[in-house]
Amino acid sequence: MKSLIVANWKCNPETPKGAKLLFNTVKRGIKNIKNVEVVICPPFVYLPFFQKKIKKIEKIKLGAQDVFWKEKGAFTGEISPLMLKDLGVKYVIIGHSERRQILKETDEMINKKLRAVLFTKLRPILCVGETEMEKRKEQGLRVLNSQISRALEGVPEKEADKIILAYEPVWAIGTGAACEPNSVLEKKLLLQRIFRKRYSPNISKKLKILYGGSVTPENALSYIKEAKTNGLLIGGSSLKAKEFLEIVKMVSI
Ligand code: PEP
Repeated sequence: MKSLIVANWKCNPETPKGAKLLFNTVKRGIKNIKNVEVVICPPFVYLPFFQKKIKKIEKIKLGAQDVFWKEKGAFTGEISPLMLKDLGVKYVIIGHSERRQILKETDEMINKKLRAVLFTKLRPILCVGETEMEKRKEQGLRVLNSQISRALEGVPEKEADKIILAYEPVWAIGTGAACEPNSVLEKKLLLQRIFRKRYSPNISKKLKILYGGSVTPENALSYIKEAKTNGLLIGGSSLKAKEFLEIVKMVSI
């Protein structure tokens, strides 16, 4: 089965030169790799550099790290789904924990973004996950249920099969404390169950679920093989071309 490997560059690299170098190294490195789709999510300002390049490579797609829910208008600083689409973007990360925590994004905003992205025929990657405190209080399952239910409000069955979920425990992001594969598998089954309650069985069967949180070449394969996820969302390791390519090769089985 084809794995989806999403590179979340966050606010990196610092210069266009660095971004182009990273992109070109990854592009060269995946030339002969099969069975994988790589999504590069650079900062918005670097997207135009890669727009033409990805047209020739089927295995790489462009993603955005965020989006606004309106098409245009007086919304200073925001970027619309249509603007992203025009730049060749196919995937959009929504509800990343850094945006929920640092930028105070609410479930209501995430719901609006999700619906706007689906309406524009882009594929949303909806991030969900519990914090360290919620995990300690054993509230993880309740949190996932609430985040997903609120994000999905008003999303019809015919659009739901385009959604990709990324289970990203907040305590595992950028900390080196990756989640155990058996715990990821447990969450995957829960996410499928939530979808099954809301939509027809067919939708939950087609649902793609990724894992994200301190993925490295050492643990990457366990999330595909043991946790049976459909792919990975990678932050830190996606900025090191050698490590990232190692992961991509490893999961292209
Ligand atoms: C992320 O930011 O989505 C992420 C998974 O980061 P890292 O791989 O660095 O933990």
